[in-house]
Amino acid sequence: MRLVLATANRDKAGEIAALLPGWDLAPRPEDVPDVDETEPTLEGNARLKARAVMEATGSAAMADDTGLEVVALGGAPGVISARFAGPDATYADNVAKLLAEMGGVDDRRARFRTVALVVFPDGREVMADGVVDGVIATAPKGDGGFGYDPVFIPEGGGGRTFAEMSTDEKNAVSHRGRAFRALAAALIGAG
Ligand code: IMP
Repeated sequence: MRLVLATANRDKAGEIAALLPGWDLAPRPEDVPDVDETEPTLEGNARLKARAVMEATGSAAMADDTGLEVVALGGAPGVISARFAGPDATYADNVAKLLAEMGGVDDRRARFRTVALVVFPDGREVMADGVVDGVIATAPKGDGGFGYDPVFIPEGGGGRTFAEMSTDEKNAVSHRGRAFRALAAALIGAG
């Protein structure tokens, strides 16, 4: 089954390719523009991205949307994780804003959640999600990964941040790893 990846984010595409060895994954064609993520939920935004690529290419398309949900911030940044520090925020800007908002906060519990879905040209959809619980570090640590990885310490990782792990170690416990393994199982089950 050939699937066109809706993401143009190389960090995410690399992780997805490592998670689905042997799958026929095509990159998003360069002439297909980014979709504005206007929906209030991860599910809604993943669907928007997958549908846009499916409609532009005529092929089945796979998209994911991820949010970091911090307990002490009432679930923020959540669906706006990419734009937490503003519309053109860099990963570093978002991490800096998160650490500033968490200054002096004792309850550092957080989780990542990913919704992954495939939309077929006939309109069928297969969806899965994945969650990893953890805590927000008090300072960035590690050079690997991307986004909030330097400040997210997942459960089951020996106290290291995601940025201190290899891609395989991160994928073994991560939100995206769990979501895409569940999606792959559902796709195989769906025939
Ligand atoms: P997206 O909407 O799925 O592209 O993800 C939203 C934002 O969440 C990204 O811009 C990253 O800042 C962050 N993010 C997504 N996945 C991860 C991850 O695996 N580790 C750290 N940050 C992530």
